[in-house]
Amino acid sequence: MPKLDEYRRKRNEGATNEPFGDDGAHATATLAGAFVVHLHDATRRHYDLRLEVGGVLASFAVPRGPSLDPDAKHLAMKTEDHPFEYLEFEDVIPAGQYGAGPMIVWDRGFVEYLEGPAEEELANDKLHVRVHGFKLRGAFALVKLKKSAKGDEWLLFKKADEHASTARDVLAELPRSVLSGLTVEELARRGRIGDELVAKAARAKRATRRANLAELFRPTARVLATAQKPTAVPPDGVRYDAELDGLRVLATKDDDVVALHLEDAQGTVRPIEAFYPDVVRALRSLAPARLALDATLVAFDPSGRPSFTRLAERATKVRRGDRHVVHAVPVVLVVEDVLALGDVDLRDVAFEARRELVERLLPAAAVVRAAPALAGDLDTVRGACAALGIGGVVAKPRGARYGEGWTRHPTGTSIRPRVAIDHGADDARAALRRVDVTNRSKIFFPDARLTKGDLCDYYAAVADVILRYLHARPIILVRYPDGIEGKSFFQWNVPPGMPPWVRTLTFRAEDEGAMRRGFFVDDPTTLLYVSNLGNIPIHILACRAPDLAQADFFTIDFDVKQSELRHAVTLAQTLKGVLDAAGLPGFAKTSGQTGLHVLCPLGPGQSWGTARALAELLGRVLVERHPDLATMERVVGRRGAKVYVDTGQTGATRAIVAPYSVRAVPGATVSTPLAWDEVEPALDPRAFTLRTVPHRLAKHGDPMKDLLHVRPDVPAAVAKLAALLGRG
Ligand code: MN
Repeated sequence: MPKLDEYRRKRNEGATNEPFGDDGAHATATLAGAFVVHLHDATRRHYDLRLEVGGVLASFAVPRGPSLDPDAKHLAMKTEDHPFEYLEFEDVIPAGQYGAGPMIVWDRGFVEYLEGPAEEELANDKLHVRVHGFKLRGAFALVKLKKSAKGDEWLLFKKADEHASTARDVLAELPRSVLSGLTVEELARRGRIGDELVAKAARAKRATRRANLAELFRPTARVLATAQKPTAVPPDGVRYDAELDGLRVLATKDDDVVALHLEDAQGTVRPIEAFYPDVVRALRSLAPARLALDATLVAFDPSGRPSFTRLAERATKVRRGDRHVVHAVPVVLVVEDVLALGDVDLRDVAFEARRELVERLLPAAAVVRAAPALAGDLDTVRGACAALGIGGVVAKPRGARYGEGWTRHPTGTSIRPRVAIDHGADDARAALRRVDVTNRSKIFFPDARLTKGDLCDYYAAVADVILRYLHARPIILVRYPDGIEGKSFFQWNVPPGMPPWVRTLTFRAEDEGAMRRGFFVDDPTTLLYVSNLGNIPIHILACRAPDLAQADFFTIDFDVKQSELRHAVTLAQTLKGVLDAAGLPGFAKTSGQTGLHVLCPLGPGQSWGTARALAELLGRVLVERHPDLATMERVVGRRGAKVYVDTGQTGATRAIVAPYSVRAVPGATVSTPLAWDEVEPALDPRAFTLRTVPHRLAKHGDPMKDLLHVRPDVPAAVAKLAALLGRG
């Protein structure tokens, strides 16, 4: 039985944001992998321990959570396997759905199986592990209860080692998510918490609100403060910050665009975020939508000391495409300072106020964390640094603006290696931006014997052409994980476990509705990624970021369900004549099912109102000229045997199927742009399929290629159409 059947049976894919991956790589002798501990505030609050075994996550619900005390043996109910992508899941499962309630990533990391392959151990009702998490460390055991009345009951307990403790309550001590830094209670209020932090930042003395902070978010030159020549430090009124052995970066988050900017020895600022997908994921999870941080990327050696060598190991492994690198060589971002929050520039704000914001924003044990505070006079601080392996400290006078009055004190405990880390970013991007198509041979279109692999190959073959129509647009996916005869669901929002290189776009998906964070499909890899999710049709809105309030085309949809295609052809040809007379361009395509679409470009600067009015006017002209063939009647029962001329497909929340999108129907037909001389009675939309369209494109090119380049005179067209109406 496929490992995830039970998982999928319990969940409604359309109603929850939980990932729906598949069984993944079929490892059969797992000796190490990733692990996560979720804190799940469902009907009963519990912790979920999930361990990678054979490409999926073996899962245990632990009501009392893990303990560091070897004598505390806690009940662990074995539950259904979860998909690998669940490692990244942190969200609120909606009311009414299985496991409804908020769930945070309480801890995660790398797990080693100590007594042979995990599969063999599980079969023998036990599991001995050593975990390397942010919070949990050392050896744990899971042992199944032999005489259990209530099903799959196990006991989880710590094994005696240097990480065991009878005194520490790790659950109470470190309650926050290692991703967002939020508690499970705060997760549902994430947006408001972000707004509150920005409001607090704005109230700080000398804070300035600035809409444009381009020098921070798109830096081309150094914007991080550099140490000045040592000056005499006043004995009090100073605080010290550790200078960690790592890479000092400017970390920025501007909505979904997260970047880590590193200045190289030549003074060039380079983006290196491709090497740190775990840090990118955590920055994305933070409550404020926009921030700029002065921070250091740090990797720790097994003894917990910052290690430049480990950081270099990370870069090497990423370049090799090691899937486990983020768990095996975790990297943290230690935040020393905050330069901007929301639209608030904090660089003139007193150091203590900035520092307070950092501590409000970030916990101490997380992927993105606040730098440790060092208390005491310089000698005490130097001593503490020596013990922690910290290479130096910087002193900051109270009230200092960003970059003001810094003095750099080496503690003499370590010498920063002078080797540069090779961030050959192109290699890393290529290594990480890789989509391995899973379940290629799964049948997606049974009648045509076409597989998921055929679907992915089609989108790869037409990527250059279809991407023109997807570029910068809100898109809506419809996923069919088991093909056109299985369950399907709309995917409005991106799933939380998506790879860090996938970009998103925020848009409103229904009138007065909530904002959605959809995919931003702008390159062949992202297109392949969504295809591998089992997405068949791609729906687009007639607008492009950043001007989502403006329409760039409108659509007249000829729906022939109650009529015949030849009548739609007649109407489309009449429409072409009217468009020509009005000076408007028009481009026809098959809907991919039975009807026809005509797309009319508007050029820049047109409102949705104008687009809708034009569509409506044209519809009325058509009904006037062909009252026996066309109707605009909204009530289906009153349409009669006529073509329904639907002019309501244009609007800020109305999606149409994209040119070259496959449809989820038998035959795997494609919504195919047509030359106007192809819009004739012998037209057969069924001839355009996933199999035939790539060849057609190669031979004849794209008849719609000018859609987004033409710039008609819209006011003149409106006047001409108004004059035409009534003179039919
Ligand atoms: Mn749970």
